[in-house]
Amino acid sequence: MSRRRFLASTAAASMSTLAIGAAPPKPAGHHRPMAISSGNGLRAVEKAIELVRKGHDPLDAAIEGVAIVEADPKDHSVGLGGLPNEDGVVELDAAVMHGPTHGGGSVASIRNIMHPAAVARVVMQRSRHCLLVGPGALRFARAHGFPEVNLLTDEARQIWLHWKETRDPKDDWLPPPEENVAAFIREALEPRVTGTIHCSVLDTHGDLGCTTTTSGLSWKIPGRVGDSPILGAGLFLDNEVGSAGSTGVGELNLLNLSSALIVEQMRRGLHPKDAIMDVCKTIATRCARDPRRRRKDGRVAGNVSFYALSKDGKFAGGSIYPGGRMAVHDGDHARVIPCDPLFDR
Ligand code: ASP
Repeated sequence: MSRRRFLASTAAASMSTLAIGAAPPKPAGHHRPMAISSGNGLRAVEKAIELVRKGHDPLDAAIEGVAIVEADPKDHSVGLGGLPNEDGVVELDAAVMHGPTHGGGSVASIRNIMHPAAVARVVMQRSRHCLLVGPGALRFARAHGFPEVNLLTDEARQIWLHWKETRDPKDDWLPPPEENVAAFIREALEPRVTGTIHCSVLDTHGDLGCTTTTSGLSWKIPGRVGDSPILGAGLFLDNEVGSAGSTGVGELNLLNLSSALIVEQMRRGLHPKDAIMDVCKTIATRCARDPRRRRKDGRVAGNVSFYALSKDGKFAGGSIYPGGRMAVHDGDHARVIPCDPLFDR
């Protein structure tokens, strides 16, 4: 199939999938809308603002925004084209939270579904549960009409294969001569690929919605679940306070329920930036107690970035170490800006 036909059929599958569980729009309000996301989410925040301006629910807008990245085969951190686990199988994690109802839903380690965030919305709406995993999550998605697709693109497979062939010089897999290794493979393997997209949206009625969706850490142990589908870890919101989400080494957030902590700090009156820095310090202090999570200089190993949006439209992005970026749409313009780091290196 040509790339153009492939993308057209992917887009058609995306559109019908995204209608599952989406609410009809209501008249738009007068509140200034805002959308924030991780650095890979410029198109997501643009889409989200376009939709909330038309009266769409803030969660539906966030889901449609991140769906652009989920469906992008060139983005190796999310959905279609995401890098697989150590067996070469793509397993996705996603969660959603809905401000007006304080609803939440998530799926973990789900295979063959391009838009896991939309499935998480249906878990929230059409089950009494908050989290479904693995084959159960896939059966639930199928029952609600989500089509199955092969998420492992040829490019992602080649990157995985090279990782597999170069991993252990004592095993029987042999890499090709170095000069035959395509540049995209070398670039993708250095450093280890992480990535996720989080998006938080404040709509024209002042209501919040958010989602985090990911293919998780590349080459993870099959069945590993990160922070993204865990409410409170990879995302959290309180419609009276604000919304927060994260990307990076999920284990650091699982050990600290970081996104819930950030919202809690905002509830106590902290600006999103101060709330994020406070939680980065907490993670850095607690997690460096474990020698396995400590660098040689004594600081915590691994980075996480946070994105927070308060009910009154203040926002910030921050991370433990430099390098994080966030996308923000303030209702007028979308831009990508650096996250403030806690440590400079
Ligand atoms: N937080 C994701 C996870 O741990 C990965 C990432 O954001 O890079 O699964």
